[in-house]
Amino acid sequence: MKKILTVEDESSIREFVVINLKRAGYTVFEAGSGEEALELFEQHNGDFDVILLDVMLPGIDGFTVCKKIREQSGTMGIIMLSAKSQEMDKVSGLMLGADDYVTKPFSPSELVARVDAIHRRVVAAEKTSSADKLTSGPFALNLKSRTLEKNNVEIEITQVEYQLMELFMNNPNAALSRSEILSKVWGENYFGDEKIVDVNIRRLRVKLEEDPSKPQYLLTVWGFGYKWID
Ligand code: CA
Repeated sequence: MKKILTVEDESSIREFVVINLKRAGYTVFEAGSGEEALELFEQHNGDFDVILLDVMLPGIDGFTVCKKIREQSGTMGIIMLSAKSQEMDKVSGLMLGADDYVTKPFSPSELVARVDAIHRRVVAAEKTSSADKLTSGPFALNLKSRTLEKNNVEIEITQVEYQLMELFMNNPNAALSRSEILSKVWGENYFGDEKIVDVNIRRLRVKLEEDPSKPQYLLTVWGFGYKWID
């Protein structure tokens, strides 16, 4: 899904933009103010590919929104919309981390072409960075440093726990049997008891879950094994 957030207070311009982006295959979310945009950004966990951001907004302006979003995401595409009279805005916007700007008035084809160009770059950048990382909900498993983060805070894990996380996060929502987990993490030649799996899962839950007795992420599949919920 190509997700884009359009932030514009003038509803006629916003509607014009939304219609054209939808036609071009984007899933479009709308905000009429900077505050609303930041709220949507939080609600969606920053999961937009591109943000189209008007400079002149009531309340906090587009530059401030741009800066705040850039602090939280280095890869998201940010395109500023500015009126011709705000020539200086272009420079300031790019300084604050915007990728491009479009000057009003613009034609639908020009707008879509600019959004498409940024979208392609974002997708390419995400592919490169995600190769080193597995993410799921609040968790990020860094495959290079072999570390785990929850909400950007590192959780201390053992290497066995790391391998368990790698297995689960590579197989989201799939029930994995104890014997499969055992052979993938401990190796085909491990002749110990399958209970070692349960012991490690229990310890992992204490580190991952808010309430380890009512797990939300690492669930038990009764009589079979375990499942990671993405
Ligand atoms: Ca405006």
